[in-house]
Amino acid sequence: MASDGKVEAYGSGISIDLKGKVALVTGSSSGLGMEMAKYLAKAGATVAIHYHSEKQQANNLAAEINSSGGKAAVFGGDVSNAQQVESIFASIDAQLGPLDILVNNAGIDGKRELCGDDNPEDWLRVISINLIGPYYCSREAVKRMKKKGSGVIVNITSVHEFLPWSGYTAYCSAKAGLSMFTKTLAQEVSDFGIRVVALAPGAIKTPINKDVWGNPDTYKDLLTKIAMPRMGETSDVAKAVTFLASDLASYITGTTLVVDGGMLLYPAFKHGG
Ligand code: NAD
Repeated sequence: MASDGKVEAYGSGISIDLKGKVALVTGSSSGLGMEMAKYLAKAGATVAIHYHSEKQQANNLAAEINSSGGKAAVFGGDVSNAQQVESIFASIDAQLGPLDILVNNAGIDGKRELCGDDNPEDWLRVISINLIGPYYCSREAVKRMKKKGSGVIVNITSVHEFLPWSGYTAYCSAKAGLSMFTKTLAQEVSDFGIRVVALAPGAIKTPINKDVWGNPDTYKDLLTKIAMPRMGETSDVAKAVTFLASDLASYITGTTLVVDGGMLLYPAFKHGG
């Protein structure tokens, strides 16, 4: 680590520079999105902070970024509503200019309900926010990025794009669908200088899973599912998003980067079996 805080690999001078880029992080009024917005701003990007219901938190984040030398503005709307997504993008065009980086982060896990005992409306809501939302945002982003001849879309999936999770068929289906959307869109837009990647977090401490890490018994059980002996921090994911959004990842498209501390490594086999 250099004295100015920059990470430099063996004196190569490698550092991440997003100056002049406009980035939108959906759902950045909370959890992972909030940390991603801070990291992208630190790397020099102008950040569109997006909220659904936590306007005050979004305003506080923008104030924090703007007062520490970065640039941020706040935009509200429901990603599962096509008209609201169009107006978010139109407002970003007007205030910050056309987008260079889109992080489709907004998402919910929904209620734990077994198929057959569930309410179809709950299922559709998870699909609408976690899969259709990224589709609406990506189509607006692609229109603008094609004109520029460059751009990056990062879709936040989950280890549950790979791992089944009983009681969460909608969540797992949405995340696996978003993974295939990532690959197919990456193929469609590769001739236009646009990269599309997915990032699959494991268990990261945020409000979405507070009921698990807030209870000592469920927290202990969760740790048995991770090879590294800890939950992830929001910065673990934000650093990876900043890398994927940058030219350091210039030859990476249509694939998923897993940031899970080894959750996909079958940790139960760690001690033999
Ligand atoms: P979070 O609850 O802190 O953040 C979710 C964000 O999505 C919030 O800002 C919320 O306002 C926004 N949102 C919800 N519904 C919306 C809607 N209709 N329109 C617009 N925005 C909406 O949770 P988080 O952990 O930060 O989750 C962020 C993303 O990471 C989600 O897609 C989640 O599935 C994914 N993820 C999280 C974890 C984890 O362990 N925390 C693991 C894997 C994947």
